[in-house]
Amino acid sequence: MTLRRTFFAFLSLTLATSAFAQENRCASLRLDEVLARIDGAKMKQTVEKLASFGTRHSLSDTKSGTRGIGAARRWIFDELSRYAAASKGRMTISYQSSMQSGPRTKDQPAEMINVVATIKGTTDPNRVYVATGHYDSMNSDIMDPIGDAPGANDDASGTSEIMEVARVLSQYPTDATIVLAAVMGEEQGLFGSTGLADHALAEKWNVEGDITNDIAGSVEGSSGAIDNRTLRIFSANTLPIGDSTSRHWARFVRDGARRWLPQVNVRLVYRLDRYRRGGDHAPFFDRGFPAIRFTEANENYRHQHQNVRVENGVQYGDLPQFVSADYLKLVASTNTVALATAACAPSAPKNVKVAGAVSDDTTLTWDVGTDADLAGYEIVIRETTGDEWERVIAVGKVGTFTAKDVRIDNYFFGVRAIDTDGNRSPVRTPDEPIRQTKWR
Ligand SMILES: [Zn+2]
Repeated sequence: MTLRRTFFAFLSLTLATSAFAQENRCASLRLDEVLARIDGAKMKQTVEKLASFGTRHSLSDTKSGTRGIGAARRWIFDELSRYAAASKGRMTISYQSSMQSGPRTKDQPAEMINVVATIKGTTDPNRVYVATGHYDSMNSDIMDPIGDAPGANDDASGTSEIMEVARVLSQYPTDATIVLAAVMGEEQGLFGSTGLADHALAEKWNVEGDITNDIAGSVEGSSGAIDNRTLRIFSANTLPIGDSTSRHWARFVRDGARRWLPQVNVRLVYRLDRYRRGGDHAPFFDRGFPAIRFTEANENYRHQHQNVRVENGVQYGDLPQFVSADYLKLVASTNTVALATAACAPSAPKNVKVAGAVSDDTTLTWDVGTDADLAGYEIVIRETTGDEWERVIAVGKVGTFTAKDVRIDNYFFGVRAIDTDGNRSPVRTPDEPIRQTKWR
């Protein structure tokens, strides 16, 4: 009897503890439920609403309640504020602004105002994952702040995606903070995202991942190619050998999609961006943050940066009719998986170093993290010509590991953190010089 009573007492204590833990548990554990809430039709309505402001050129009218970038910005703020009101205090909405100038502002300072939704992390709030879409638009003439520029795909699509991710993810706790920002001035020179990246530096955010969603809503390219499954993810390398944190972030996002979204075909592209083009992840990349770009499989150049017109029976212009609700859902889902799995995982290992020259063994060292639910680390190894990690070795909660009889010369080595629920961080690899200092 005594044993039985003790057992039930123990059981009820366990249940009470797990009910409490459930409240603060990370979203990845219920990711299917989170993903089921993403609403493509709602995003398509957001795209139509943003296009209805006529133009969202960064230097367009800000006073009107119905036309221009000011009206669009206030609508985004109000909409996000409604989502925040239903978030039990998890999400807050604010404006973040900076003064920027360049040839496309006639070298006059112009205020770049971003609308920022912040879902504050429960246990590691200073670690931040950022996703942006730009809400400004342009027509054939970048200096025209008056004429129509509906910007449905470029980039009401990305704006609708980050707004939908804010709506859905703000219902769940995450360890780290998620920032979803509608930025402006992209077409004028990546100005809003430059302001946001500077803000992140000034506030000493530990940005462990940035995504820009831009031209991410259409499935038919100007070549006629149709693809409603593929999402391109662009990432650049900062180093002469091995990997950058942006590449690790891109692979992490792809791996999450493979697990949770088998219908999505992530196509990694190992460039900062499309050839001779740019995007809002670049200011984050330039400041040393892991930063990548999401873009549809086949762009349609008849719909980008074009005055709305019909020529020889062909419709030009960036109109909502060319944006797919289902594809918006696919891209928002990929953002959600990336941000939720990252913000639920431990922070990536820091200060990763490797040693082993002229040795049969290779030794990795790193700083042991302080995450509350940190379980340990995994070493990953691959051939230098490979792209996928080929071997995974669980090594426990330690700060060093020696791979016996594995020579450093022939492999790339990395390490990632894992928590008590099995959530894994992005990989970190040691920096590697292209030339050794000593001649041998
Ligand atoms: Zn764009």
